[in-house]
Amino acid sequence: MVEQDLTIEPGSTIGIMGGGQLGRMIALAASNLGYRIAVFCESEDDPATQVCQKAVIAPFNDFLALKKFTSMADVITFEFENVPAEAANFLEAHSLVRPKPKVLAIAQDRILEKTFLNEIGIETAPWAQINQADHISRAMLSLGHDAIFKTARFGYDGKGQATIRGDQALLDTWIAAGKPPSIAEGIVDFACEISVIIARGLDGKTQCYDIAENQHRNHILDTTIAPGRVDFEISEQAKIIAEKIANSLSLVGLIAIEMFVTKDRRILVNEIAPRPHNSGHWTIDACVTSQFEQLVRAICGLPLGSPQRHSNALMRNLLGKDVERWPQIIADGENKLHLYGKRGAPPGRKMGHVTRLFPLSPSWDSVTLDTAMTSIRENS
Ligand code: AMP
Repeated sequence: MVEQDLTIEPGSTIGIMGGGQLGRMIALAASNLGYRIAVFCESEDDPATQVCQKAVIAPFNDFLALKKFTSMADVITFEFENVPAEAANFLEAHSLVRPKPKVLAIAQDRILEKTFLNEIGIETAPWAQINQADHISRAMLSLGHDAIFKTARFGYDGKGQATIRGDQALLDTWIAAGKPPSIAEGIVDFACEISVIIARGLDGKTQCYDIAENQHRNHILDTTIAPGRVDFEISEQAKIIAEKIANSLSLVGLIAIEMFVTKDRRILVNEIAPRPHNSGHWTIDACVTSQFEQLVRAICGLPLGSPQRHSNALMRNLLGKDVERWPQIIADGENKLHLYGKRGAPPGRKMGHVTRLFPLSPSWDSVTLDTAMTSIRENS
């Protein structure tokens, strides 16, 4: 049995499940605080393994390898939520795991996730579960003619998703996907998409970043605008929702909550991710404490850092071949370029990101923002 209120001091080893760019940036932030890093991932040249001291390269269901990993790490965290539940539970039985696997289990299944949110009184898009064919017409009855089909598990960046019109289309989509447990969700005519990132420490104290606004391209995050263009009331409401979610999960760690703001000013939660999030990359360059350092502080039982923003920021993802423009991006000394060390840039792959800082302000002047958006799009 592992002591749950343990503080993990600098010099100890943090284990990260997953080797992607989030793991890489967690490792870099942890290194700054004097921690060592062990990474568990499936491929030797993953972005996080390039910056860690130890790595275990094995499939996530290799229990011998997982056991070896627990002997290397003083605390284990996740950089992505699709680590199989059996692996997460095994780790918890042998090591200190933060956040707890039950948080991961909720986040990796849209049915559990939406049920949890609705049960604690948080509004989502209307949705209906589809486990069998006769759920389909009932789903369409409750949602109307058009809906978004989403597989319950292993969907990200729009994968496992389709917009469908009518119950025959929904049935066809579900069958074509292999009849997995799924949901149909009403299409939200949103005014904007925002995300809130909140950390919760061992002592239950929380720290929330300013609300960010997200723009997507082909269902993948393209640009984050921080602060988001929402008024004080929406921003406070969004933070209250985030705090409720973090507390209800008894989270020790950091969670990103994606939300839709509807045209009639309602906030609907779309997704939760109990880890650093792409829409929080701007915090590296624009905040006192980045989301990555904040996660490290939370899981090590250290006091949380200030999430205060010292600049306005725009973050743009470099997807696929966008990365080939790195020479011109870096030639502009105002750009903060982050590359993830990935080889091969198929369309849509997250290869890096670029952040641009602007003078601190509680909101954006629309001319400044338009010019900045044009500039970050042309230059990156
Ligand atoms: P998700 O994988 O659920 O985060 O969805 C990816 C993106 O698809 C979201 O950020 C939205 O831009 C869009 N999307 C997802 N669900 C809905 C919905 N119910 N209504 C409208 N747009 C949606």
